[in-house]
Amino acid sequence: MKVLVVNAGSSSLKYQLVDMTDESVIAKGICERIGTAGNISHKLADGRKFEKDVPMPDHTVAFSCVVEALTNKEFGVIESMQEISAVGHRIVQGGSLFSHSVLVDEDVIQKIEGLAELAPLHNMAHVQGIRACIACMGKDVPQVVVFDTAFHQTMPQTSYMYAVPYEYYEKYGVRRYGFHGTSHRYVSGVMTDILGKVEGTKIITCHIGNGSSITAVKDGKCMDTSMGFTPLAGVEMGTRCGDIDPSVVTFIMKKDGLSPDQMNELMNKKSGFFGISKFSSDSRDIEDAISHGEKDAHYKQAKLAQDILCQGIKKYIGSYAAEMNGVDAIVFTAGIGENSPALRAEVLSDLDVLGIKIDPKMNEKAFRQSENICISAPDSKVLVYVIPTNEELVIARDTKEIVEKL
Ligand code: ADP
Repeated sequence: MKVLVVNAGSSSLKYQLVDMTDESVIAKGICERIGTAGNISHKLADGRKFEKDVPMPDHTVAFSCVVEALTNKEFGVIESMQEISAVGHRIVQGGSLFSHSVLVDEDVIQKIEGLAELAPLHNMAHVQGIRACIACMGKDVPQVVVFDTAFHQTMPQTSYMYAVPYEYYEKYGVRRYGFHGTSHRYVSGVMTDILGKVEGTKIITCHIGNGSSITAVKDGKCMDTSMGFTPLAGVEMGTRCGDIDPSVVTFIMKKDGLSPDQMNELMNKKSGFFGISKFSSDSRDIEDAISHGEKDAHYKQAKLAQDILCQGIKKYIGSYAAEMNGVDAIVFTAGIGENSPALRAEVLSDLDVLGIKIDPKMNEKAFRQSENICISAPDSKVLVYVIPTNEELVIARDTKEIVEKL
């Protein structure tokens, strides 16, 4: 069975064709600048790739470019789209309505649209992606939606409620939803496989990338997570501020006369690494500046940005260990989690209180690797792993499972 995984954003459409017989990626790519210009970049499993500019006024045209790339004479990997058994879509916000992946029908599409208020940029783009697939592939090809929020639906109310008047939860659904759920589900699943059991396990998963979130997973189920009502909450991120005293928001708005949208932009796009370092949102730039020492003009601010993130992650690890009354394993994943030995070493330093000991050699080794690497020392009381995430594979697996039951 071949499954096409689609991640439609407001101006982009990422795709991956997966052969479910061995879960290998046959081809993948991305359409960018949809709506303004248009460009497709396509890669095959054997390393061949192409990139070209094609006008893409909307997602349907973008999707037809994907069809062309997958089937064309020179680079094609399939004869026709009929070889694709199903499509799996990534959806950011499933609200309280979706705790599992589901088959798409008109009712599901309308529910996803209805949740757009909670994720305006994302959900509407996802719906455009679904409709574009239906337009290009026909109604008979099953489509499945996999939600970033679904894994977090097992959180107890004490984890997901904010102590604002209860009516805002009732009226508008103001609560913690959490994000990156597909990634947390995947890496915690790999970790329970390594531990050899699900029941009785206490795992903290740290998805640290441009966006970052940390999750407490007990008995294989999410118990708490650092992102909240939106992906703005939690630790410091590339351009997002993470947790702050809510009064800071109204204070800055009043002082600088900012509108809610301007304040939202400040917290989402101008804060985090970028806001503190004053020069970059990318951890590679931050670590590069730090490695040059005081002579680098960005050193001081870069170090502060990195230290704030490390302390933030440490705080979450401590609080989740307390919340679960222990921790068996900690997992690092995503762009920074998988590729920054310096950050992991700093986060895990001075955690004797939890019995955590790192193997420095293995920690250094876990950089741009595709396999799971244990970075804790043999006598560490807590296992620490670097596990490359694979959200696309989870989407493809869920899609296969649902479609096989039809
Ligand atoms: P997104 O949230 O956009 O999916 P990623 O998980 O790709 O983000 O993470 C992006 C971050 O990871 C960037 O700050 C980048 O610097 C960092 N990163 C990605 N790859 C590497 C690498 N090979 N070495 C160091 N840092 C990396």
